[in-house]
Amino acid sequence: MDVIRGRFAPTPSGPLHFGSLIAALGSYLHSKSRGGQWFVRIDDLDTDRTIPGIGSDILRTLETFGLHWDGEVLYQSSRIAAYNEAIEQLSAKDLIYFCSCSRKEVGHNPYPGTCRKGPSNDERNPSVRLLTNNKPVEFHDLKQGIFRQNIEAEIGDFVIKRADGYIAYHLATVVDDEWQQITEVVRGADLLDSTPRQIYLQRLLGFQQPDFLHLPVATDENGQKLNKSNGALSLDQTPFRPSQLICQALHFLGQNPPENLQQKNVEHCIKWGLEHWNINLVPKEKGHD
Ligand SMILES: [Zn+2]
Repeated sequence: MDVIRGRFAPTPSGPLHFGSLIAALGSYLHSKSRGGQWFVRIDDLDTDRTIPGIGSDILRTLETFGLHWDGEVLYQSSRIAAYNEAIEQLSAKDLIYFCSCSRKEVGHNPYPGTCRKGPSNDERNPSVRLLTNNKPVEFHDLKQGIFRQNIEAEIGDFVIKRADGYIAYHLATVVDDEWQQITEVVRGADLLDSTPRQIYLQRLLGFQQPDFLHLPVATDENGQKLNKSNGALSLDQTPFRPSQLICQALHFLGQNPPENLQQKNVEHCIKWGLEHWNINLVPKEKGHD
């Protein structure tokens, strides 16, 4: 039987909040309840967004919540050579080109392919874009069902290396998922829309395609996704104890923890979650057909 390997890949741009706890707990329980392993990867590529010390703060928080990872933590900043090698591979297949469009020229998606025949402006530092085609990418999400996207029509040729030199998220994600032999990607449904781009890259690079499970996303009272930029409380700023927060996250994920579980310690709560994890109970939230 193949080994199950899941992962949680936070960006160290702020401490974990309730939304990130849901993604961490969901991915942990989904792998660990089936005898799998669970890895943590810190997405510290964009040093303009990275806050010093937050990476270790995130790891401490995971331990406080009883979410212990397997193996070494992988820092994406240590993987630049591997990402550039993947870009070389795509370049050898004539699948990339330099784009010098300004943000204003690019506008909203889809990118119209202005620079396919050569950069429109030689003065600017170019980004690197990946050629897309008119064939829809389709996959079956374990919760959201069939999801289909024509990347060329809906997104356009997308950036895999930014003009400022940073490796773009999608490329780094697929290179590391392959390297860490990740078999299942469990994360928030706000990333559903980026999954076809990652599958497209996986196919071009000859990588394994993991299973995908996109979880419902926690929102504030205005329906906005909880995130660092709209001031979501970090977990240690909330008035709740870790075991209460774990029980709230279990509840959010449709699991039905008993009322008294939150009075127990986090190890008890995690153990209950492992014994009772049922993906069928997880609400779907984001609809499409
Ligand atoms: Zn361009």
